[in-house]
Amino acid sequence: LTKKEEGEMIRRANALENDGIDTLRKVSRQEYLKKREQKKVEELRDEVLDNLYMFDGVKLTETEYQDQRNKVELVKLLEKSVQPDDINEYRMPEAYDQEGGVNQDKRFAVAIQRYRDDGAAEKMNPHGEQDAWEDHQIGKAKLSFGSKNKKQASDDYQFVFEDQIDFIKASVMDGDKFDNDLSPDALEELEAKTGLEKLQEDRKTLPIYPYREQLLQAVKDYQVLVIVGETGSGKTTQIPQYLHEAGYTKLGKVGCTQPRRVAAMSVAARVSQEMGVKLGHEVGYSIRFEDNTSEKTIIKYMTDGMLLREFLGEPDLASYSVIMVDEAHERTLSTDILFGLVKQDISRFRPDLKLLISSATLDAEKFSDYFDSAPIFKIPGRRYPVEIHYTRAPEADYLDAAIVTVLQIHVTQSPGDILVFFTGQEEIETAEETLKHRTKGLGTKIAELIICPIYANLPTELQAKIFEPTPEGARKVVLATNIAETSLTIDGIKYVIDPGFCKMKSYNPRTGMESLLVTPVSKASAMQRAGRSGRTGPGMCFRLYTAYNYHHDLDDNTVPEIQRTNLASVVLSLKSLGIHDLLNFDFMDPPPSEALLKALELLFALNALNKHGELTKVGRRMAEFPLDPMQAKMIVASDKYKCSDEIISIAAMLSIGNSIFYRPKDKQVHADNARMNFHTGNVGDHMALLKVYNSWRETNFSTQWCYENYIQVRSMKRARDIRDQLEGLLERVEIELSSSPNELDAVKKSITSGFFPHSARLQKNGSYRTVKHPQTVHIHPSSGLAQVLPRWVVYHELVLTTKEYMRQVTELKPDWLVEIAPHYYQLKD
Ligand code: ADP
Ligand code: MG
Repeated sequence: LTKKEEGEMIRRANALENDGIDTLRKVSRQEYLKKREQKKVEELRDEVLDNLYMFDGVKLTETEYQDQRNKVELVKLLEKSVQPDDINEYRMPEAYDQEGGVNQDKRFAVAIQRYRDDGAAEKMNPHGEQDAWEDHQIGKAKLSFGSKNKKQASDDYQFVFEDQIDFIKASVMDGDKFDNDLSPDALEELEAKTGLEKLQEDRKTLPIYPYREQLLQAVKDYQVLVIVGETGSGKTTQIPQYLHEAGYTKLGKVGCTQPRRVAAMSVAARVSQEMGVKLGHEVGYSIRFEDNTSEKTIIKYMTDGMLLREFLGEPDLASYSVIMVDEAHERTLSTDILFGLVKQDISRFRPDLKLLISSATLDAEKFSDYFDSAPIFKIPGRRYPVEIHYTRAPEADYLDAAIVTVLQIHVTQSPGDILVFFTGQEEIETAEETLKHRTKGLGTKIAELIICPIYANLPTELQAKIFEPTPEGARKVVLATNIAETSLTIDGIKYVIDPGFCKMKSYNPRTGMESLLVTPVSKASAMQRAGRSGRTGPGMCFRLYTAYNYHHDLDDNTVPEIQRTNLASVVLSLKSLGIHDLLNFDFMDPPPSEALLKALELLFALNALNKHGELTKVGRRMAEFPLDPMQAKMIVASDKYKCSDEIISIAAMLSIGNSIFYRPKDKQVHADNARMNFHTGNVGDHMALLKVYNSWRETNFSTQWCYENYIQVRSMKRARDIRDQLEGLLERVEIELSSSPNELDAVKKSITSGFFPHSARLQKNGSYRTVKHPQTVHIHPSSGLAQVLPRWVVYHELVLTTKEYMRQVTELKPDWLVEIAPHYYQLKD
C-alpha cells in the first residue's frame, strides 16, 4: 500500500469504529493489517535470503556453509579441551569477595530502581570500577559467549534479529560422576515400549531408584528422616510410591506437602499416571478450596497450608501413616509452623508416624539438628557441568533482555530447550506475547519455537503442555515463575535464562504493612536455577546481571518466610490449637518478636483475642475460615450487619485476585468500558466485584455473558466454588445467610470491620496517607476510584510496583472507624 492508501485505510477504519459498525470495521481493518504484515514479511525474507549463507563475508552454498559451521564447532571443542583450568574451576563466592571486596557499588540496586521507574531514570553513571573488578576477577579465563567465533554466532543472529546481548562466560558449575547411566541399547529398548510399561521403565532410570531398598530400610529404622537429593532425582514422585509398595498405605495415608499449588496438582497427576489410576482416586491432591481426593485416596499431595489446616481438625494426624514434608528448603511459613507442631506432637502422640523431610539443597544439617539429629539420607546427584554466563553490563529492562536472549540462543545455539524465570503471571504473559510477535512471520527462517508458560493460575490442561516432549527440529521455551526452580522438573532443558528476580512478600513489623515486591533472588536460588540446565546433559545458564552483581549484591540465602511476613493468620491458628506461649514455641528460626506482638495486637483489635490473649468467640469463628484474619473478620462481622450473602461473594471474588477482567490488546477500550460499567455510581471496587458476581449469577452463570463483559469465565467459576465453600463454613460457625441488597453501608461497614487497619486518608496532592502508621500510598490505576479520590478509603492490599499502590479500594466514613474499632482509633479533639 502507498502511504496515501495506508492513511486512507486508517481513516476509514477510524471512521467506522466511531460509527460503531463493529463487524464492518473488523473486516476491513483485518484485511489492512494482513496486507501490511505480508509486505513486511516479504521484505524481510528477501533480505535474509540475500544473506543467508554468508561466512566471513563470502556467500556459500548450504553444504559449504554447514561444513564451515562444523569446523567452527570443532575448533570450539578443541579450545575447550586445551583449557583445563577453565573447566572445573568454579570458585566459591568468598574467594571473589576477598579479592575484590572493597567496591561496594550497588549497581544492581540501581538496575532495580531503573526497572521500577520504568526507564525514567535514563542516565546512569558509567561504572568503570565494576568493569575493572570484573576484568581482574575473570582474568584470562574470560571467554566471550561464542568464543573466537563470536562474530559467526552473532552474524547468524543478526540475520534475523537486530539487538543482542553481550555475555561473558565466567565459570563452570561442576557436574557429578555417575555410573547408573543407560547404554544406548538400553535406551533404544526403552523407546520401543509404550504407555504404562514405559512409565514403569522410566521410573527405574531415575537417580533415586538404585537407593530404593536402602531408603525403605532407613524409613523403617527411624521415625524422622531427612532426605536430600538434586531436583529431578525422583523424591517427590517416587518416594510416596515406594512407601505404598512397601505397605505403608495399609496403615494410613501417605501425605506429601508442597509449597505450591501447581506442584501439588501436577505431581499428583504424574503419579496417578505412573500408577495407572484415575486422579482423585488412589492418588489425589488437596489445595485451598479444591479437594481432589476421595475415600480411596492413599497417596495425597497437598499444599503445606492444607496440612496445617488439617492439623487444626486432627492434631494427631491420625489418618496418616507417613508425612513427607517436601521442598523443605523453601522454608515457607506453613512448613516452618508444621515443623514446630509435628516435632512437638509426634514423639508423644504418634510414635508410629513416619516423618520425612526432603530438600533439594544442602541445608539438611539444619533440619537434622532441629529434629534431634535425625539421620540424613543423601541421594547421589546426577548433574552435568553448567557454564555460567553473565552480562557484561547490567540490563535495565530484564524482560526485554530475557526475550532477546531467548532468540539469541534459539538462532545461534545447538538443540535443547530453554527455561526462563520470571516473577509472575503478568510478566510471563507479556513475554509470551512479545516472543510471538517477534517471531511471527519469520516462517522457516528460524526453527519452530514452542512457547510454554507456567504459573499458578494457568489452567490445568495448559500446565501439562510443559512436560510434552519437544518435536524434532523445534525448540521449547518454558516461561516459568519460581515454581520451576525446584518444585517442577522439566526434562530436556539445556539453557536457563535467569534475570535474577522473584516476587517476594515483605513485611514491616513496625507499621504492620505487608507488600509483594520484585526482589533480587539469593545466591542459593541463582545456583538452583542454573542447575536446572544440567540435568540431561551439559547446560548453560545466562544470568542477566553481571558477575559483580552476583558476588556483591545478592544475599547468600533467601530469608525464611516466617521472618518477613504478617503472622496474624498463623497466630490465630496456633491459638486455636491451644498453643498460647508463642514466644517460646519451638521455631526453627524464630520470627522477630516484634512481628509476633504485632500479630497479637492486630488479633486483639479484630476482637479475635481478649486482653489476656485468649481466643474469643469471634476469634474461634474466624479461625474456621481458610482466609486471612481480616477477611475472616469481615465475614464474621457481616452477621451483625445482615449481609453475609453479599460479603461471602466479595470474599470469594477477592480470593481470585486480579484474574477477573481481561483486556485484549485490540479491544482495550471496549474492555475498559465494560469494566467501568460495574463501577457506576463510584460504589468502590468491593461493590463492583459484588456486582460482577451477582450479574453473572442473574444470567444463570452464563459463559456468553462473561465473554461480552471481558470477564474470565474460569476465574468466575472458581469464585463460585469458593463462595459455595464459604457458605458451608458459615453454617458451621452458625451464621445465617442474610442479604441486604439495598444497604450499601451495611456491606461497607462489614468490610471496614475487617479492614479498618487498612484505612487511608486523602492528601492535598492526590496521594493518600495510611491512618494508623502514616505512609504515603496511592490508589491503583485499575481501581474504579482512581479518578474519584474519596477523602477516606479502606483498601484490600498494598502492592509495590512503581509506587506503593492500594488495590481494591472502597470509600468509608471516618466515623465508622471510631464506631467499629474504638480501641484502635480515637477521635482527636
Ligand atoms: P524431585 O522431587 O527429586 O525433584 P520428581 O519426582 O519431581 O523429582 O521428578 C522425577 C521425574 O519425574 C523428572 O524426570 C520429571 O521430569 C518427571 N515428572 C515429574 N512430574 C511430571 C509431570 N507432571 N509430567 C511428566 N513428568 C514429570
Ligand atoms: Mg520434588
